[in-house]
Amino acid sequence: MDAALGIQMDEPMAFSPQRDRFRAGDSLKKHEQNIKLSGVKKDIEKLYEAVPQLSHVFKIKDKIGEGTFSSVYLATAQLQVGAEEKIALKHLIPTSHPIRIAAELQCLTVAGGQDNVMGVKYCFRKNDHVVIAMPYLEHESFLDILNSLSFQEVQEYMFNLFKALKRIHQFGIVHRDVKPSNFLYNRRLKKYALVDFGLAQGTHDTKIDLLKFVQSEAQQERFSQSKSHVITGNKISLSGPAPRALDQQSTTKTSIKRSHTNAQVQTKQGKDGKEGFVGLSVQRSVFGERNFNIHSSISHESPAVKLVKQSRTVDVISRKLATKKKAIPTKVMNSGVIKKTASSCPAIPSCNCYATDTVCSICLSRRQQVAPRAGTPGFRAPEVLTKCPNQTTAIDMWSAGVIFLSLLSGRYPFYKASDDLTALAQIMTIRGSRETIQAAKTFGKSILCSKEVPAQDLRKLCERLRGLDSSTPTLTSDTQGHGSHDPAFSEKADQTTHGQHSEDSLHKGDSNGCGSRFNEYTTNLEGWAEVPDEAYDLLDKLLDLNPASRITAEEALLHPFFKGMSL
Ligand code: ADP
Ligand code: MG
Repeated sequence: MDAALGIQMDEPMAFSPQRDRFRAGDSLKKHEQNIKLSGVKKDIEKLYEAVPQLSHVFKIKDKIGEGTFSSVYLATAQLQVGAEEKIALKHLIPTSHPIRIAAELQCLTVAGGQDNVMGVKYCFRKNDHVVIAMPYLEHESFLDILNSLSFQEVQEYMFNLFKALKRIHQFGIVHRDVKPSNFLYNRRLKKYALVDFGLAQGTHDTKIDLLKFVQSEAQQERFSQSKSHVITGNKISLSGPAPRALDQQSTTKTSIKRSHTNAQVQTKQGKDGKEGFVGLSVQRSVFGERNFNIHSSISHESPAVKLVKQSRTVDVISRKLATKKKAIPTKVMNSGVIKKTASSCPAIPSCNCYATDTVCSICLSRRQQVAPRAGTPGFRAPEVLTKCPNQTTAIDMWSAGVIFLSLLSGRYPFYKASDDLTALAQIMTIRGSRETIQAAKTFGKSILCSKEVPAQDLRKLCERLRGLDSSTPTLTSDTQGHGSHDPAFSEKADQTTHGQHSEDSLHKGDSNGCGSRFNEYTTNLEGWAEVPDEAYDLLDKLLDLNPASRITAEEALLHPFFKGMSL
């Protein structure tokens, strides 16, 4: 109200219409900023109220990140006399599953604090509210700097990402959400940090105890319905005693108030979609959602309906993924339709509808394939998209490959899809349909694709997109028929500099800010003229459609692309 009143009072008495419009525009901007500021202020007040002990230690300055499952704040702490330390406070939404929260914290405490994996300083809890205090790393917006990075910086970025992945994979942590906004990068200080273990899962031999209790959404749903469980410190007892009060500072909870519901799973997917959307608004992604979803009939339905329908679609219904010039109908089934399956996927009885347009009653009565799907659609590996239940750390390496693809091509987000089949079709257009089908067989999945699309030469593709070859920087129609590309390199650079910000750019440069030091983002062509073959060889090995042969983080660090770089 105050802000609105202020704007009215500032309003001049008489102006030319054009100046008047500028003034009105400025006022509107100011007004919006004021609303945003007061919103952040209110959120900070609410956080102090929810977790009062924070006010004894921190001065919360700003909100730097907001997702469906958490809000992240920048705070300062007077930890030693004279020295003020910057801290990131991650406030997890109170509806988060306690095991999930405890597992996220355990990943940070056990694996974090070295090798580019974010550590943790403190954790606070009051009732349902948990706040994780981490060292603050000022970082760049990936989108803002993408086209200004020198080739050497790209090399260093990837090397440091693999260092972090090697570390967590050694602990049997599958991050599941590797993407630029979860890998913080301070360009000036050459510092990096992998954050956000909110979706992490454990390998069968994980060293993170609590990850043994973190299951996929579907499993978790069943689990929380059938058991009451209590966490005390690092121990979890199933069907345990009645909740008892724990120390308020403890990070654990005494009882599960809310299970991880379908609705929440859907919301998380919504968040991912939102992030993709923001990226898409810059119109620089290679695959635009719009172009691939002309035939989508689910977009206006309620989340619950969407979830059910979507899941069914993936299993049984042949869908057309329309691109500008062609459609790639795809269908995924367990290869158990025939007799033999890969050990990871259970056999299913044969039916008559396989490879036809109809869905028979046998198929309709099948149980849903249960497999982890969490993560951001554009970064999901083929085995995640095809719901292979046996997923490993290799899924993070695929995601790292998608980041590398963005860095080499200058396009972000590279893939943008609202459902798994669309995402799979997009992968096929780069890696080839035959190759994708072949690889899927190795993990027990059968993909039907009526149109054959060839694999792209990665160097040619990246150079074309980056504008380094003589032809247009857009994909040709035989690549994927996308409609919204950058018309020219200069405009592309301009979009990079001034384009709309993605989720990770919420963070602003401040007085110490690397943001302010690099705000010109001039395109640094250094090294880009002769990208070595090793770069594309590594990219090829990261985007290996077969998770069993995909390069590991440890192997990647030893790849000739990083010759001369030491750990
Ligand atoms: P979410 O689960 O909501 O995605 P994240 O842990 O990924 O939460 O944090 C969201 C954002 O907050 C990050 O993308 C980053 O911009 C910022 N952030 C998180 N941790 C830190 C940190 N330790 N230092 C600086 N910024 C951080
Ligand atoms: Mg995140």
